[in-house]
Amino acid sequence: MGTPWLAPQGPAMKCPFCSEENTQVIDTRENEEGDTVRRRRRCLACDKRFTTYERVELRMPLIVKKNGSRADYDREKLQASLMLALRKRPVTTESIDAAIERIEERLLASGEREVPTEKVGELVMRELRRLDKIAYVRFASVYRNFEDVEEFREAIREVKKPRTRRPRGT
Ligand SMILES: [Zn+2]
Repeated sequence: MGTPWLAPQGPAMKCPFCSEENTQVIDTRENEEGDTVRRRRRCLACDKRFTTYERVELRMPLIVKKNGSRADYDREKLQASLMLALRKRPVTTESIDAAIERIEERLLASGEREVPTEKVGELVMRELRRLDKIAYVRFASVYRNFEDVEEFREAIREVKKPRTRRPRGT
């Protein structure tokens, strides 16, 4: 023994050999960037050892607009844009969520503290191209002329706004 027992953080790490959730951390090391930790673990059920790489903190980069202003990354905003482009398209919520996760992973993997809004737009287009061609064309044709996803969202909303019904017979 002798190694200090460190409480596992975040979701339980299952043993890859027997799926046991109770594991003992026997060593912890941060990577150079400080965004992941490598943990050596021992399974309390089968006693096998394994290594996990855990994300310390999800730090999404700030989004830089064309006018230079910065905004926090907003998952809901991104989701709303995707949903809008995919409106009435045969794409499941699960696939949309998976697309958002891939976008977030890429943003995180970039390691940047700030990313231009165009970068997010490109990632969205890449995902839409995979998900649904119609939604992709919708997004690409509108988005390319817009400053950011938010503007795109407003533009689409304008287009989709139901026309006010004309009163009959007057
Ligand atoms: Zn085990």
